[in-house]
Amino acid sequence: MSTAGTEAFKARRTFAIISHPDAGKTTLTEKLLLGGGAIRAAGQVRARGERRRARSDWMKIEQERGISVSSSVMTFERNGIIYNLLDTPGHEDFSEDTYRTLTAVDAAIMVIDAAKGIESQTRKLFEVCRLRDIPIITFVNKIDREGRHALEILDEIQEALALDVTPMSWPVGMGSDFFGVYDHIGNRFFTSTEGRGGPLDTIKDVKGLEDPELIGELFDNIRDELEENVELGGAGYSEFDQESFLEGHLTPVFFGSALRDYGIDQILDFIAAHAPSPHSQPATGGRTIVPEENKVTGFVFKVQANMDPKHRDRIAFVRLCSGTFKRGMKLKHVRAGKPITVSAPIFFFAEEREIAEKAYPGDVIGVPNHGQLRVGDTLSEGEEIHVTGLPAFAPEILRRVRLTDTMRVKQMRRGLEDLAEEGLVQIFKPAIGTNWIVGVVGVLQLDVVVDRLKAEYQTEIGFEPVMYNTARWAECTDPLKLDKFLETNRAHVALDRDDKPVYLFKNAWEVTYVGEKNPDISFRETREIV
Ligand code: GDP
Repeated sequence: MSTAGTEAFKARRTFAIISHPDAGKTTLTEKLLLGGGAIRAAGQVRARGERRRARSDWMKIEQERGISVSSSVMTFERNGIIYNLLDTPGHEDFSEDTYRTLTAVDAAIMVIDAAKGIESQTRKLFEVCRLRDIPIITFVNKIDREGRHALEILDEIQEALALDVTPMSWPVGMGSDFFGVYDHIGNRFFTSTEGRGGPLDTIKDVKGLEDPELIGELFDNIRDELEENVELGGAGYSEFDQESFLEGHLTPVFFGSALRDYGIDQILDFIAAHAPSPHSQPATGGRTIVPEENKVTGFVFKVQANMDPKHRDRIAFVRLCSGTFKRGMKLKHVRAGKPITVSAPIFFFAEEREIAEKAYPGDVIGVPNHGQLRVGDTLSEGEEIHVTGLPAFAPEILRRVRLTDTMRVKQMRRGLEDLAEEGLVQIFKPAIGTNWIVGVVGVLQLDVVVDRLKAEYQTEIGFEPVMYNTARWAECTDPLKLDKFLETNRAHVALDRDDKPVYLFKNAWEVTYVGEKNPDISFRETREIV
């Protein structure tokens, strides 16, 4: 085992931020990068893409291949810890990509708007984290505005997500009476010299709740509320427990304001001290890949196509699971059974890209390729092994594809297959009839599919509604029983892009009904992609 590699991976923290649009993910990302010294001024995360700095090697690749990788991965270093922040597109481009990125992280920050609590997309993303037991750190944002009572928010997290919660700090007032944040564990008061609502610029060491440094300036009602919170909170919620956090059963909750810098350093410190270093990865054959192993393995969790339709090149995002990767390495592309030389791997820093000379478990490298790498693929140093645990998710929106020019069936199928490999859509080929059905998790993906087929495959398509609104993968331990079931239900059956059978349901009621009538068949919401 290589000790250098062992040391290096232990300093890695690979994580993502999950949230509902508008909760403050962009602002928090920016402040984390600022806190980590990765960027120098606010506003840069937002301006990403538009203002890319000339970084020789990377720019060349980007120009030659016409690929833009935006800010899918942001790496920065702070106090000897390497933070790899993976972006989970959460807005218009909310798609399966978002879910899959979560398969490549070891922890997640869940951002909640203090006024809105748990919202729909947060909940969905949280469920994916739960599926994988990813530890969650909660950040209750925007406490500089009027929000819900701190205890109410903690209760909501506890009840809605069935998680134990540990308050790690308390808001000192909110909204127009916002004085700062009290860290009752470290006995610090984060506040502003600019008075109520000001940006964080002062940290006072205090001696508990009675300290005049903390309560001297507060209004009576705010002091009472703070005392009540600390008292009730201490009694009513779990104490922080590292093991329970790592197992995904307990979430530490930080109150803060990304906009005004409250909570940022606390979160970064917490991640450094408590978030896990790269975990081991389950693989086929009952094998578990541990990061200490000498040989390199990694898996593709995301593929990004070029922006220039004339090029077919793509960037595959590979999360390393073990070994020390070195530029120029020849790795085995296990699915294809072919070697692939990784000569221009890319590292992603907040402001720039760099050719990666070395990378360690937990790191993400971008591998330019001509389309041979797809989501779920494993790269190894020769071993015939597939990383498992990368699910495909049952889409929530299904549409039948209508082709405008029927002469272009081949181009359309090729295009849809390519987009499916990127993870933009899922395709289902009905057992009866020839028109494919596509499935997506976010409705705006449909527009993207139409645009890209037109631009990249010169094929115009439209979508028609289908009577189904959900798909489930049908599985059975007995292949004969499965075949019989599929044969008798041909009208509802389709094959996915890997020819795995799915059953198309009209509604949730039917899922239950058909499930009860066919107890031997399992109808799965997710499927391993191998
Ligand atoms: P995203 O959609 O989750 O990426 O959210 P943004 O970071 O773009 O924030 C949405 C809006 O909330 C923007 O107008 C931000 O300026 C604002 N915002 C973000 N964090 C805070 C905060 O801590 N306090 C206040 N008052 N506004 C915030």
